Amino acid sequence: MQSRYRFSCAWLPDGWRRNVVISVDPSGDIVDVAADDVVTTARLVNGTAIPGMPNAHSHAFQRTIAGLAERRNNNEDTFWSWREIMYRLAARITPESLNAIAAQVYADMLKAGYTSVCEFHYLHNQPDGKPYDDPLVMCHSLIDAAATAGIGLTLLPTLYQTSDFGGVPPLAMQRRFALDTDSYLSLLGKMRPSAQHAAQMEVGLAFHSLRAVPFDSMRSVLDVQPASKVIHIHIAEQEREVTACSRSLGRRPIEWLMENAPVDSRWCLVHATHASASEVRAVAQTGATVVLCPTTEANLGDGIFPAADYLHAGGTFAIGSDSHIGLSPSEELRWLEYQARLQTCERNVLVPNTDSSVGAFLWKRACEAGARASARRIGALEVGCRADVVVLDSSGPAFVGRVDDAVIDTFVFAAAGNAVRDVMVGGRWLVQDGRHFAETAIAAGYRRAIGRLV
Ligand SMILES: [Zn+2]
Repeated sequence: MQSRYRFSCAWLPDGWRRNVVISVDPSGDIVDVAADDVVTTARLVNGTAIPGMPNAHSHAFQRTIAGLAERRNNNEDTFWSWREIMYRLAARITPESLNAIAAQVYADMLKAGYTSVCEFHYLHNQPDGKPYDDPLVMCHSLIDAAATAGIGLTLLPTLYQTSDFGGVPPLAMQRRFALDTDSYLSLLGKMRPSAQHAAQMEVGLAFHSLRAVPFDSMRSVLDVQPASKVIHIHIAEQEREVTACSRSLGRRPIEWLMENAPVDSRWCLVHATHASASEVRAVAQTGATVVLCPTTEANLGDGIFPAADYLHAGGTFAIGSDSHIGLSPSEELRWLEYQARLQTCERNVLVPNTDSSVGAFLWKRACEAGARASARRIGALEVGCRADVVVLDSSGPAFVGRVDDAVIDTFVFAAAGNAVRDVMVGGRWLVQDGRHFAETAIAAGYRRAIGRLV
């Protein structure tokens, strides 16, 4: 039987509408959307309904050190020294702790308005590098965590083989991440059936980075998996890797990828931070998605992606919370625009034309590209998509006198605290009045896991 909900106000692909009745079938798909409907009997939901945001880049386990690496204990405190701290944590994660941490991170994501997550997963082996008896155990920890929290999942088992360009073997701390190409393809082959009939799950390909995946391995995987719906890669997060790539391969990372890989709209270039003007234009022309994680990129001192040039060249972008130093889509979008304002000394920089609302433009574009990055039918309140709905509490003082796009602008730039009140994923209400339905049990599991780790 279908469930019907009447939203007092909803943001549909063709704009803002009132009295919107959304019908959801038992599998969680939207099967009908009718605006200006005051006749149909449906449960009334007061508030502003917008599409849930896909989170296009996550390493759930890294949430554990958020706030524990904010003390300068090095003359040169950079991404690379942060990575040492992250590796020490990664060495201690068990299948059980990964499950508990991911469930907490995913529940927190839902409360902030993310309704689906791309998990870029490379903790494959035991800490000493030996495979687990069950090579899928870590994947299942993540899948189970997503199911516990209720969030949609695109699992991205990630290939990781070398510690630097030129085939340098993995460091001791990286042995957990390393798989040979056959083991990786076998893992992927075993994971694919889990997604085949799962409405809430998809599986895609990921290459950790050009420094961690030799070209022959990348080519072997692409040859065997030509139909993969998405291919994610960390591409140019740090100046040091751009320099090392230029020295080793004779090209900057994005430049090299464009020349050597079949980059198209299935590709997601995570942290295209250090992109030259010609690289920006080249990526925009391929239809690939650039995945930006502004709070993590700021926290790690990565640098600033030239977002204005890229968007004005027609490029598409999605957002991710990556290390989870921030866990809020509105915060990621706010900082994306603020970085551009600080660089240009102008306001409302990322919109393509005058009279466009920045918050609404960024939310919509990040939803569309995030859906593509997730290879799932999400990102819009329309027939055929999953019923992933975020309801904003627009009754608070910050929203007085705001309607339509101004509600999104206020949510992104000016809402005090979290304005997300209710969240539905695949037709299930997971968050109501700001509370996740399983938050007490999930938090108890998280506390136990952290107690053993930190
Ligand atoms: Zn990452």
